[in-house]
Amino acid sequence: MPPATTRFAPSPTGLLHLGHAHAALFAAEAGGRFLLRLEDIDRTRCRPEYAAAALEDLAWLGLRWEQPVRVQSEHFSEFAAVLAGLEARGLLYPCFCTRAEIAASASAPHGPEGALYPGTCRALSAAEREAKVAAGLPYALRLDMAAALRAVPQPLWFDEAGEGRLRCNPAAFGDVVLARKDTPASYHLCVCHDDALQGVTLVTRGVDLKPATQLHRLLQELCGWPAPRYRHHALLLGPDGRRLAKRDHAPTLRALRQAGRIPAEVRALAGFYPPSTAR
Ligand code: GLU
Repeated sequence: MPPATTRFAPSPTGLLHLGHAHAALFAAEAGGRFLLRLEDIDRTRCRPEYAAAALEDLAWLGLRWEQPVRVQSEHFSEFAAVLAGLEARGLLYPCFCTRAEIAASASAPHGPEGALYPGTCRALSAAEREAKVAAGLPYALRLDMAAALRAVPQPLWFDEAGEGRLRCNPAAFGDVVLARKDTPASYHLCVCHDDALQGVTLVTRGVDLKPATQLHRLLQELCGWPAPRYRHHALLLGPDGRRLAKRDHAPTLRALRQAGRIPAEVRALAGFYPPSTAR
């Protein structure tokens, strides 16, 4: 098998910390070609200065990646085209419900990403939809899960390193949101689109995203994108045994650097010792 093409795909919502270093080094060491992508579609949380800092910190750590860096916010029209294609096939519908309305729906069962959408807006007639859009109500675009499942051969599988073929149950996600007014394409859609576009053959990422792979396989099949292989890694834990997170003040790469740590030490702190050879 030819060496894999891997990528590291951070969202620039803050400075990178040791958990990011672990994910980046894991991706870089797992493949032959190593790509970088900035997943900055959420314009309310991502900031250009964090994107610039991420590139600088990763280079300081000794990582080298192929150019160009894919910056998702520069490609909204590509995601919109995919959404339009799914909509034309009757696989999406507009949803006007507020978060509070969904949370209040008493018996909502839970999926991997929280309360499942009860399907209220799926039942709207074309005239009702048009009236709401004409009234200027904001809406999200949801995947009609039942229709999507009918559109692809079942069951779906994904290939997880060390575990073999794992069976997917995308129905557990319900009618997921694929676009919102403030974020016109979802993480799920963009990540699958860009992995296909960039020719990523091995997706490495934290095990917290492993459940989402079941949904990603469905989107890949719906859109005719190839299925990459997957290798989910354990999350780096802090001294308290909890996962590192920005909100808990995980040490940033920048702070470690400013405290006089050298790249080899930081790579070791991120679980990569002996230090990887620079690529
Ligand atoms: N952008 C995602 C994150 O920061 C990672 C996406 C992925 O690796 O699939 O958590």
